[in-house]
Amino acid sequence: MGIDEGFDMVPRLGLGAEDTHNWALFIELVKGLYADDDLVEVKDHFIDFKVGEHPTLPLHGPQFLRFSSKISGRIACETGVERYIRTVRRLAAGIFGSRIHFWTELAEQFGFYDWRDVHDTQKNFWEGNSGLAATRFANDDDDYPSKILNDRLYEILEIPGRGRGVVARCNIKRGTRVLCETPLLVVANMNPEVLNGVVASKLRSLSKEQQVQFLSLHNNFPGRHAFAGIVRTNALPCGSGAQTGGVYPEICLINHSCRPNCHNSWNETADVGRETIHTIRDILAGEELTISYDKGGPSEIRQAGLKAAFGFDCTCDLCSLPAPELQASDARLRLIQSLDEQIGDPMTMMNRPLSSLHACRRLLDALREEFPDPYVDRVAISIALIPRLYYDAFQVVVAHGDQARGRVFAERAYSARVECEGEDSPATQQVKRLMQEPASHKSCGAYGTKWRSSKTAQPNKETVGEEAFEKWLWRL
Ligand SMILES: [Zn+2]
Repeated sequence: MGIDEGFDMVPRLGLGAEDTHNWALFIELVKGLYADDDLVEVKDHFIDFKVGEHPTLPLHGPQFLRFSSKISGRIACETGVERYIRTVRRLAAGIFGSRIHFWTELAEQFGFYDWRDVHDTQKNFWEGNSGLAATRFANDDDDYPSKILNDRLYEILEIPGRGRGVVARCNIKRGTRVLCETPLLVVANMNPEVLNGVVASKLRSLSKEQQVQFLSLHNNFPGRHAFAGIVRTNALPCGSGAQTGGVYPEICLINHSCRPNCHNSWNETADVGRETIHTIRDILAGEELTISYDKGGPSEIRQAGLKAAFGFDCTCDLCSLPAPELQASDARLRLIQSLDEQIGDPMTMMNRPLSSLHACRRLLDALREEFPDPYVDRVAISIALIPRLYYDAFQVVVAHGDQARGRVFAERAYSARVECEGEDSPATQQVKRLMQEPASHKSCGAYGTKWRSSKTAQPNKETVGEEAFEKWLWRL
């Protein structure tokens, strides 16, 4: 027992240029301030404060969650730990502002993070491990995170420079549905003046609480048509290519990233239109949840598109990469775009199917390189391009009568679709049917039967090994 006090970093720091620079500056200030203090020792991977319960600061910013100690008891008092915590906190707040969440049990305040996450992360950098891999996730055991977090996986917080945002309260596994909302209102695409009137009349039929939720959303287009500005800033299309958009109380608070960690999709199931958000990679407690508002592409096109459509300059981790890395990313994204177009060409698919199939494979490799899962080797985050590419590969082989490979591609499209949209999404269900019966696809055999095979004719992966299986699958 005893009284704890400290501060947490919320949201936790990312790998972007600004966070990296600010953390380096903060660490230099701390080192300078305590250069002559024997109780503060700079080790290989962290700074050790030999006071109280030894609060520590990792040298790698994203590993930092909390700086704290008990401030009651003999050792705490003799070493004056409370003074250290308050000084370091002032320095941190000077650089990171409202991201520094100060708490003291004296005032019945508590930290943002679960103690188990704090201890796991500390253990990582004490042992010199630079990894960030989460060791415990929501759903892993019964009392985590419900005991501490009341089952709420996320929190809405002020994010410095970005307005409100949605932040993970605990580690969340890839493929988890974190949010699901029906829209406050749905509107069609129309000019601002007409839209403003339509929104005004729709607002009248909402409850007081819903009106407040709508009006408190951010507006990047202030001016005469404020309601239309809110819709333009926040609405998400109700399905891919839809001409209608929905506005949501919490989903609309999720900020944009060009390399997002969540995927949004419209789900019409059971006649209840709703928007779902799934994590497309593992997310650590304190990370901000992000989705992509646009169709991607190289940075120049992306940034211009975001500015025109949503009125902001993108400063996401990808856009703030140093120039050489950004150029490399742009080159990959151009390749991704051109492969995507190549695959969609019906003449190639008909006359040179092997070339289409190999383009699918090259696209997969490019996606793994451009959107790597930070915690799993040689795997891409499950962005929506992945299920689409497997579905394209399915169409290529099935159009030439190859049901065996068709079934494998449909299985992969299905797993990827479940991760980004959930089992109940209509698109997931559609590809699940194809997985069971590849021949039920309308184009089966449409371009000929030179690749003809039965749906059960796959080699046994266990017997032939993974490499040979992949060679067979992609006809390499
Ligand atoms: Zn960006």
